[in-house]
Amino acid sequence: MTANNECKKLRLAIQKSGRLHDDSMKLLKECGIDISNGVNKLKAEATNFPIEVFFLRDDDIPQYVEDGVADIGFVGENVIFEKNKQVTIAEKLGFGKCRLSIAIPKGQDYPSSKYLQGKKIATSYPVIVNNYLQSQGVTAEIHEISGSVEIAPGIGLADAICDLVSSGSTLFMNGLKEVEVIFESQAVLIKQAALNPTQVQLLERLIFRIQSVKKAKNNKYILLNAPNDRLKDIISLLPGMKSPTVLPLATEGWSSVHSVLNENDFWNIIEQLKEAGAEGILVVPIEKMIM
Ligand code: ATP
Ligand code: MG
Repeated sequence: MTANNECKKLRLAIQKSGRLHDDSMKLLKECGIDISNGVNKLKAEATNFPIEVFFLRDDDIPQYVEDGVADIGFVGENVIFEKNKQVTIAEKLGFGKCRLSIAIPKGQDYPSSKYLQGKKIATSYPVIVNNYLQSQGVTAEIHEISGSVEIAPGIGLADAICDLVSSGSTLFMNGLKEVEVIFESQAVLIKQAALNPTQVQLLERLIFRIQSVKKAKNNKYILLNAPNDRLKDIISLLPGMKSPTVLPLATEGWSSVHSVLNENDFWNIIEQLKEAGAEGILVVPIEKMIM
């Protein structure tokens, strides 16, 4: 850990290039943080927030944060659990979602994890796979490789693999089927242990912004027209931030109702609203949600 009592900014490590890079940069932008063009550079300074961004290989981010060379980082949970460093997860970021799964050749039967007993498993995640096998009381040989894990069974290197999956199409193209999800992952914000008081405050501001962006993405603004005699039923379906806004329409006997709906209940509630007599329903994305 680097004692950094003097440091008046946050040093953030993000992936230099790869699956998490663009979403990490986008999140910073949505948080109103402008990074001067950092392409092909190792670090870049924000112009309007005391933050400096380091661009690194994702595997190295937990170590940099543990050592206090960076104060915080955006990285996949899979990498954090595999590397097992002394860092704290401060916030889930809602992107980079994937799962770490066991896959075996398509034609094989898979009755249970006992299938793996005595088998050879190729993976880039030996620590997580080992934990899983132990939890299942199964002994197998782990063959660590750093990339193209999915070709291992086809070339006779392993009987099964454990790799990151999002759609499953890579597995399918290599004649494999997913039989077990052993870890669900998404990108998270990690922090080092020795932030100074200024940095703690900056991190609180950053997390507040991230939460506002995430909430906005999970919610939609909804406007609809309702006959006044159905208003009570319609309002009872709409939670809103406090309660829905109701405004009279120019047409006598009708009102416009405005509210906020969570993505998860969205279609359910829309159907109920229509049944309850709502018309002209408009759904609009929300940019930020400040609670
Ligand atoms: P680096 O060059 O930084 O080491 P990498 O090749 O190890 O990059 P990427 O393939 O860019 O890593 O993936 C980075 C992270 O993106 C993964 O660790 C994981 O958290 C996440 N991710 C999301 N979906 C997938 C997926 N389908 N396959 C692999 N990783 C995924
Ligand atoms: Mg990597």
